Amino acid sequence: MNVTSAHSEKIEAALKTFIANPEPYLIGLESPLDLRELAAELNALPMFLDFGGCYAIRPNGEIISFDWDEPYNLESENDPRIRNLVLFQGAKKYPKLSELVPSRLPDAEDCPHCNGTGMEPMNKKLGFDEERIVCYCGGLGWLPK
Ligand SMILES: [Zn+2]
Repeated sequence: MNVTSAHSEKIEAALKTFIANPEPYLIGLESPLDLRELAAELNALPMFLDFGGCYAIRPNGEIISFDWDEPYNLESENDPRIRNLVLFQGAKKYPKLSELVPSRLPDAEDCPHCNGTGMEPMNKKLGFDEERIVCYCGGLGWLPK
């Protein structure tokens, strides 16, 4: 991904706002983790959280992931599908980052799981009104080649 300096500034600004919020963002029950403290330490904005861990973006555009039980064991995420998911889901939390969401490329294919709608059909089957299960495509409705 090409991150322009304007993008970097937006990521940085969103990260600052996230860290500056005085209310702790606690994860877990036993020895809870404060996600705001961790974000400051890692210089990374949490974009997508699930039961297992978190994906976060750094101002330089690097997407990292870690598991909740090993928050300092960072991995760099290079899979284009996962990166799309993280950027798309993250932009819902931080609308100012929506320009980081990739546009569909001509060789992309419709996501077979949601038939291009971006909405994982299990949500409807389970009676969820909102999107609780994120589709394989991350909600974009298409998959990178
Ligand atoms: Zn899909």
